[in-house]
Amino acid sequence: MQNIAIFGATGSIGGSTLDVLSHYKDRYRVFALTANSRVEELVRLCESHHPRIALVADESKKGKLASALKTRGLTDIEVWAGESDLVRLAALPEVDVAVLAIVGAAGLAPTFSAARAGKRLLLANKESVVCGGALLMNSIREHGAELLPVDSEHNAIFQCLACASEEDRKNARLILTASGGPFRKRMDLTEVTPEDAVAHPTWNMGRKISVDSATLMNKGLEVIEASWLFGFPPDRIDVVIHPQSLIHSMVQYADGCILAQMGAPDMRTPIAYSLGWPKRLDGFAKRVDFAALGSVTFEAPDIQRFPQLGYAYEALRMGGAASIVLNAANEIAVEAFLDRRIRFLDIARACRQMMDSLVLAAPKSLEEVLAADREARIKTREVIAQW
Ligand code: NAD
Ligand code: MG
Repeated sequence: MQNIAIFGATGSIGGSTLDVLSHYKDRYRVFALTANSRVEELVRLCESHHPRIALVADESKKGKLASALKTRGLTDIEVWAGESDLVRLAALPEVDVAVLAIVGAAGLAPTFSAARAGKRLLLANKESVVCGGALLMNSIREHGAELLPVDSEHNAIFQCLACASEEDRKNARLILTASGGPFRKRMDLTEVTPEDAVAHPTWNMGRKISVDSATLMNKGLEVIEASWLFGFPPDRIDVVIHPQSLIHSMVQYADGCILAQMGAPDMRTPIAYSLGWPKRLDGFAKRVDFAALGSVTFEAPDIQRFPQLGYAYEALRMGGAASIVLNAANEIAVEAFLDRRIRFLDIARACRQMMDSLVLAAPKSLEEVLAADREARIKTREVIAQW
């Protein structure tokens, strides 16, 4: 029996993980569930999954969580709260697997904590790889942690690289696929609303990543993520638009052979793969019917309309803290766009401005990563407030 702690249980990935786990009650125990501030939602999950620990990141909601659990007779569930408890939970000896499904740089500290404690990490939170970079990868190696990428593209690449020798990897190229988002065919993006931007054509995800998919920042973050996870430089990582989201990513080897991983677009597949690895569990996603599928298509990404994809390559090449600055600027700008304080195209504008104006040295510790992230957030807020 393995104990699973889900960081970000109330989100889209959290929900898909709980769905997978509900089919394997004999193997996995839902040990801990965390949420940012939506206590009612967390309590509802506690009623159905009965974890040992329920954690609310917003410390001011601790009392509310305790009394809501008590009202429902769930008095044996421990109530934890705050960022320091998130870090403590990720390192708790009873936790075997940490599912890192918090959105944004808020996932950094628990991800590092799970890595340092040598856990199996089911890592969905791409922002922690983008910001943590070499520091996170070193920490995973040093402490004997196991990193299984849940992001569908990286899970695909992980599978496609499984049989590759060191030599084969050195000469291979990664090909990340992208659905192209909701605006693949929309030429004028000036009037885009938050509702338009979160309506993703093939994946059902949280609001932030949905906006990132609409700007192609998501693919940009994934290029950076792939570079760190698999040790590939930016000039050996390509992106191709593939609107049907059937191929989740590919690896092209020196001889021209391409391995692709395919399946229905359903996050429960990479989650189940990561849970069961190295064995495969039964999956729940719809099976692909090739005969009914018709055609699958590919096209080049449009960097003019979606410049943030280019910014990600640029940040990776710049090194230092450029990826942290880009990620923080994007998070703050997406939040402002969702609050209707800025327009859709201002998200890229904020990212560009911050990359041009804020050049920070490469961080040498998690504390320095967090400091760079904080500084970039403050500066981005200041810039946006003046528009
Ligand atoms: P979501 O918005 O649906 O859920 C986010 C979760 O994080 C919620 O449980 C929320 O309570 C928690 N959270 C938010 N802010 C927090 C904070 N400051 N402190 C603690 N907890 C906080 O997001 P999602 O779509 O599930 O995405 C989660 C992560 O997985 C993101 O990094 C995203 O890029 C990545 N990802 C998601 C998908 C997908 O299909 N949804 C696919 C690939 C990767
Ligand atoms: Mg992805």
